[in-house]
Amino acid sequence: MKSAIGIDIGGTNFRIGWVREDGAVLCSDKKPSEALCAGGKAVDLLAGEIRAFMEANGVGDAAAIGIGFPAPVSSDGKTVFPCPNLKNPVEGFGNVDVVSRLMESTGLPVAIAKDTDMLLQAEITVRKTGPQDIVTAFYFGTGVGNSVYYRGNMLRGAHGSGCDIGHIPVLGGTRTCGCGKKGCIECYASGTYLASLWKKKFADCALPDIFRVHEGAPELADFIEACAIPVAAEVTIFDPTLVVLGGGVLEMEHFPYAELTEKIYGHVKKPYPAEAMKIERAMAGKDAGIRGAAWYALAHAL
Ligand SMILES: [Zn+2]
Repeated sequence: MKSAIGIDIGGTNFRIGWVREDGAVLCSDKKPSEALCAGGKAVDLLAGEIRAFMEANGVGDAAAIGIGFPAPVSSDGKTVFPCPNLKNPVEGFGNVDVVSRLMESTGLPVAIAKDTDMLLQAEITVRKTGPQDIVTAFYFGTGVGNSVYYRGNMLRGAHGSGCDIGHIPVLGGTRTCGCGKKGCIECYASGTYLASLWKKKFADCALPDIFRVHEGAPELADFIEACAIPVAAEVTIFDPTLVVLGGGVLEMEHFPYAELTEKIYGHVKKPYPAEAMKIERAMAGKDAGIRGAAWYALAHAL
């Protein structure tokens, strides 16, 4: 059975795993992303980490390497957009032909994509999504991550920056977004905003308890409403066969998931796409990033 190396690079940690085609993770490791940020060029440091992982775990026959980055990837699938939370003073990943250089230094075919494309790849592989299906996926974490699988392809747009729905503008929005714009929906619907709201208004309980202790607070209802809007907007555009919802905010123990899906339904036009709309939680689990990256590599690098 074929296997691949899957890598999931985040702002804080990166995970690397040897994954079989059937999804079994044969071995994996987690390291601080700082290891890619100092002491040499980011691509060379990553190549060193890959070689060390393969040697330490006796990885002999991986067919390819797949890597998910916390930034969009150019539409030709070779270059990463600058990663603001992975700065490297020598040379970062941004605007570098990561694929050609890693293929040269590892001798294996390489495929890269933004992290949410890899998470969605895991969902469509686990769910055996058909070639005619349309799946929109939303990950409410630090920001609002989004990917769309459209009948066999991950949509990227002309330059790679498509399907980034956290940055749609909202009417009357005044907050400044990390992207530099004002009024992006992410400023109202992300974990970052939830944490700032907690600090300002709800710090009498621990952040993970906010939805339990302050159930029914109007600020939290507004937050759920803000999460529903980008989902409903994209459902309106794509009329998908499946909507996947995930991310750290939704995984909070007392997150009012039913309230979110009701609000999404309320904002979607009847009878269609609302009546046929299928919303499910992300199911691919904690290894989704590395499994998705490995599956993506087997599908796109060979
Ligand atoms: Zn923005």
